This record gives sequence, structure tokens and C-alpha cells, in this order.
Amino acid sequence: MIKHFSYKIYRKPKNKHLHRLVNLHARLYNHCIALHKRYYRLTGKHLNQYALMRHIARLKQREGFEWIGGLGSQSVQDVIQRIERGYALFFKETKRGNKRIRPPSFRKARTYRSFTLKQAGWKLVADNIIRIDGRTHKFSLSRPIEGQIKTVTTKRDSVGDFWVCFACDVGDVEPTLAATGNTGGMDFGLKTFLTFDDGSTIESPECFKQASRLIGAANRSLSRKKLGSRNRSKALKRLARVHRDVVRKRDDWQWKAARAVATTYDVVWIEDLNLTGMKARWGRKVSDLAFGGFVLKLDYVLKSNGKTLSKRDRYFASSQTHFACGFVNKELTLADREWVCPLCGETVQRDVNAARMLKHGRAMLTALSVSWGGDGIRQALPAAIVDTQESPSL
Ligand SMILES: [Zn+2]
Repeated sequence: MIKHFSYKIYRKPKNKHLHRLVNLHARLYNHCIALHKRYYRLTGKHLNQYALMRHIARLKQREGFEWIGGLGSQSVQDVIQRIERGYALFFKETKRGNKRIRPPSFRKARTYRSFTLKQAGWKLVADNIIRIDGRTHKFSLSRPIEGQIKTVTTKRDSVGDFWVCFACDVGDVEPTLAATGNTGGMDFGLKTFLTFDDGSTIESPECFKQASRLIGAANRSLSRKKLGSRNRSKALKRLARVHRDVVRKRDDWQWKAARAVATTYDVVWIEDLNLTGMKARWGRKVSDLAFGGFVLKLDYVLKSNGKTLSKRDRYFASSQTHFACGFVNKELTLADREWVCPLCGETVQRDVNAARMLKHGRAMLTALSVSWGGDGIRQALPAAIVDTQESPSL
């Protein structure tokens, strides 16, 4: 298993050399993008990554391109591979008919963030000192590095701080959470972050909302500064710092919440949400809750403890179907937090019902619908639910 360890590099004047290195990688990135675009314009084909690598290797010797020689061949390779991954994703998504993913394109050096080294080009000269490009940089060793180091990425964040990130192979990881034998259904919501099938809930701290006054103040301060001035760049940094705090608080909370879920359950069923669609409809709040990031974290915590996260597809209609009797409430709107089932007369709590549906899935409802028999009830069930096929797990 690959584990990442990030450490902050101390703020020193010599970090300007790291800035220069990242900027040079951005320059190379943009050069490669230009080559890709030109090659496509001339031939109508995708530029092969190995041909591009050979071309860049030759380019180093030419006048005016000596700066590429200073970058280290592996990080040059990595820049080309990043572009290749971007194209691969673009081709795959275009094939599927998704027009939202665009091919990789030019980036401002200011927003370019990192470069990656593999075996060569770096050395740990002490536990907390790394040599990159002939200069040593001390970092804060907040915890020991484990396993075998595969890659070293030097990152700068929006505030301008540098981080060194080691991707390490730690082999097989021993589970730290005990198996409980519990299976749970979990529903995400805008009102309540997580609702479980037993009715328990977890609320989101909504870090962005909490910081919205600070963010507003920082934004207003920025807008008053003269373009290109030193004060403006300082204000920009202050704004970036507030945003970074929000991200950190949210991440920290989500890791803890994911661990809490994994402590209780061995198998967790969730709905496969269309996050892009939700963002378009409800905007900021969806981004603040960051469901997508939470699912990734939960999946990681569960997997590394030998547990599983399973998804039911988004056409499963978990909110509309009453768990107890199978009645489908087509008129249900998002504003209805609870409704009375016309078939069995029970009061249905929307989120808890959805979580129960997610936990038990279709097989359970099929059994119910068969046991009733009556034609009227059968008609109340959509065809999808009488399908015994279980949704594929993750
Ligand atoms: Zn009912």
C-alpha cells in the first residue's frame, strides 16, 4: 500500500530556488502543451509521450533550452506523464460522451504547484534535511517516515509555503480497527450531513460557512488594493491563508468522522451521487460539505481496516421508496423532511428511510413485493425494484 507523508519545509530565503524550480517546470509544461497542440494541428494525431520525451532530451542540447538540463530527467519525465494522464482522462470521458472534461491546456506559472522526483535528484542527508538540486532544505519532521520512499514531490501551496511529500510503499497494513460485524446504510444530505439506518446522525461543522465573515473581510481588503502593488500581494496571501485554514479544518474533521464510521461498521452502503449536478443546483453548500472528499477518505479508512464501502447507483430512488412497504412516493420533494405513507399510514423520516433503503437494497424489496401479491400494490412498484440484481459494489 502507498502512503503519503507530507512535511513543511522551513520558510527560508533559499526557498526562492524552489520557487524557481517550480516555475521552470511550469515553463516546461507549457512548452509540452504547445508541442501537443501543434502536433495535433499538423497531423490530426495525439503526440506519443515517448516521442515527446526523446524530443525534449534532444532539445536540452540546443541553445536557449539549457534550462531544461537543470531540471533532472525524471522530473521532466513526470511533467510529460502528467500531461499524458490528462489526455488519457479526456479521451476516456469524451468516449463516454462527457463533454465537461477538457484536454490539458496552458497554466500560469503562478498557479503551477509542484514537481516530482523518483529515485534520483534528491537525498535525505539527515532525518529532517533533504537535498534537492544541490541545496539542503530542512523540514519539520512531524512524524517518522515509514516504508520505502518511491517518489518525492516538492509542493508549494497558495500561501507560498513549501511542502515535501514522500509517497512510500508501506507493504501490507495491519488493521487498527476491530471487526464489528455491522452493516450500515448511510444517506448524505444538505440538512444533515450523514444519517444512518438506525436513525443516528453526524452533522457537518460547515467550516466554510463558519469562516465566511473572515473570507468576506479578506476579499474586501484585497479589492481595495491597487493592482500590482505589494500590499495587494500581501492581501492575496492573507485570503489564501483563510482558505487554507478552512480546507485543513474540514479535512481534519472528515478524517475523524470517517474513522468514527469505520469503528462502528464493517460494510457501509451509500448512494452514488452526481456531485457535479448537485454543485450546479445548490452551489456553495455542496462544496462546503465536500461529500466527494469524504467518500474518498471513508473508502481509504475502511479499506485499510479490511472493511468495505459499497455504492448503490443513483437511480435507486432510495428517498422516494418507503422502506417498510415499498410504496413509491413520486410527489416527494426535497423540502419534505417527513411524509405519511398512503399505503401503510406510517410517518416516514426522509433521511432515515433513505439510509435503510441503501442498507438493504433491492433484494429485500423484491421479497416484499412477492409476498403481497395484490395487483394494486405491484403497480405501485417501479420495474427497477422488482429487479433482483444487486448493484455492483465499489
Ligand atoms: Zn409505507
